[in-house]
Amino acid sequence: MALIVQKYGGTSVGSVERIQAVAQRVYKAVQAGNSLVVVVSAMGKTTDGLVKLANEISRNPCRREMDMLLSTGEQVTIALLSMALQELGQPAISMTGAQVGIVTEAEHTRARILNIETERLMRHIQAGKVVVVAGFQGISSNGELEITTLGRGGSDTSAVALAAALQANFCEIYTDVPGIFTTDPRLVAQAQLMNEITCDEMLELASLGAKVLHPRAVEIARNYGVPLVVKSSWTDDPGTWVTTPQPQERSLINLEIARPVDAVEFDTNQAKVALLRVPDKPGVAARLFGEIAHQNVDVDLIIQSIHEGNSNDIAFTVATPILKRAEAVAEAIAPALRSTSNPHTDEAEVMVEQDIAKVSIAGAGMIGRPGVAAKMFATLAAAGVNLLMISTSEVKVSCVIEAADCDRAVAALCNAFEIVSSPTSTPSPAPVSAHPPVRGVALDLNQVRLAIRQVPDHPGMAAKLFGTLAQHNISVDMIIQSQRCRVIDGVPKRDIAFTVPRLDGETAQKLLTEVAAECGWGDVVLDSAIAKVSIVGAGMVGHPGVAAKMFEALAQHQINIQMIATSEIKISCVVAQEQGVEALQVIHAAFGLAGNQKFVVPA
Ligand code: ADP
Ligand code: ASP
Ligand code: MG
Repeated sequence: MALIVQKYGGTSVGSVERIQAVAQRVYKAVQAGNSLVVVVSAMGKTTDGLVKLANEISRNPCRREMDMLLSTGEQVTIALLSMALQELGQPAISMTGAQVGIVTEAEHTRARILNIETERLMRHIQAGKVVVVAGFQGISSNGELEITTLGRGGSDTSAVALAAALQANFCEIYTDVPGIFTTDPRLVAQAQLMNEITCDEMLELASLGAKVLHPRAVEIARNYGVPLVVKSSWTDDPGTWVTTPQPQERSLINLEIARPVDAVEFDTNQAKVALLRVPDKPGVAARLFGEIAHQNVDVDLIIQSIHEGNSNDIAFTVATPILKRAEAVAEAIAPALRSTSNPHTDEAEVMVEQDIAKVSIAGAGMIGRPGVAAKMFATLAAAGVNLLMISTSEVKVSCVIEAADCDRAVAALCNAFEIVSSPTSTPSPAPVSAHPPVRGVALDLNQVRLAIRQVPDHPGMAAKLFGTLAQHNISVDMIIQSQRCRVIDGVPKRDIAFTVPRLDGETAQKLLTEVAAECGWGDVVLDSAIAKVSIVGAGMVGHPGVAAKMFEALAQHQINIQMIATSEIKISCVVAQEQGVEALQVIHAAFGLAGNQKFVVPA
């Protein structure tokens, strides 16, 4: 007999008929000899409707009252599903997050789960009942017993956290598509269903815009080794398994906030090549990385910064032994990348830096916790370490620094994040040979770009910037510093660009404009008309040419790349918002992910 946590999303419980169908499915699983805890979302688009009501009353409703309002949606579904089960003769009881004892931080509208009391749940289960739990909500532990919610899409997180706390045999997420696809099947009909995907890949996809799973649900599954499967609530198809490695032993106390960082890693075997002043037009990155791939040079990090005037900087890192080859390619191509508008003054220039190192913090607990990256930057600043490049992914933040600073940086980071095991030199992730290098493509239309001009090039700037935003719980993604340093009044200065969630864009701009005035930075510019398109795959490592293929697909469709940022298992490009869907489609096709079977949206 297995203990199973099942979760049904909004569409799956969108009507009386759907709730009855779900009750039948639950009943069947119980008849097969299993014990069930069922987590449900609000019916259909109820939560959106409640948000709309709030916005009709206030432009900026108080977050506590939003939680009070939004948590009602799930309460309707739990009662109705329990009734439907009872109608089938199946004993069942509904419980809100507070009644279960899903204890969270007091952070309204984005609370993290601290712990889950299992005693009451187990008592009902042992009495033969199905327990129907309201997803997305909890209760704060600060004595006030405030109702909290976990953030939009958070019912997945409730379900996986319950599975971890109850040590369930597995967690099934039932939704309105048959599993996890190579990209959103509603945007690309030829997207293909996957049988399985690693949790690291799914973490990236989820946080880069694939809303089929809440990223924090994947994080919990990864940390606690919860077997997790995504399936359709309309069919009996097997769905997609999210595979997790053997987890380290972990306490269930402070479930979502304990130990954000598992490891500090470093790599002293890196060199950086930068091309300055390349023209800002489609095809440039494709040409450069096409040639690099042709020469079989494997690049690690790639960044392309915002443009000044009509030119960009592109920088990448390679392993030191192949630096000469990479440099030769860059030198050979530079003259051809001369800006056509001003061929004489704007010639691309190659800059090489050899004595560099990459230090990283890794761990799945950083998702949606901007304070973690901020702490890394503050730690490095306090140790007097200047940052040359920054790369972020959901499970890792890496900084390229001077090689001479590496030991100091690693020691400071181990100390700050209480890493006792000795730091590891970066393990090359084992290429997943059975799979193609790119597993999935995601589109995020919910980000905006901010650029800060003329930030002095000395330690502490990234710490200040991130620290300010982290204090307001604003997550930053794709941070890119321009490669060019401009000396203004004797001070070397760089531009820094990054993306933040659309909802936080204006607040972030306001906060940073205040900081800019204090710190002598230049203008803080906001661009909301952007889209971020990303490819994800653990098999990219050791596969030269993946980046080139992505850039080439965009170039062929005259889609200009405004920013590039990579981590070991993803490459993201910022493009114009109106080209976002097309960018997703052409990249998906370029990697051969499209199949013949067309996804049909269920009625
Ligand atoms: P639920 O209400 O069941 O939680 P969601 O709407 O939150 O469902 O998530 C399911 C939706 O996620 C699908 O209908 C699909 O449009 C979207 N989606 C985005 N990317 C993917 C992907 N890679 N695979 C499957 N679905 C995806
Ligand atoms: N009902 C909530 C939402 O729409 C939570 C969820 O469905 O996961 O965001
Ligand atoms: Mg969802």
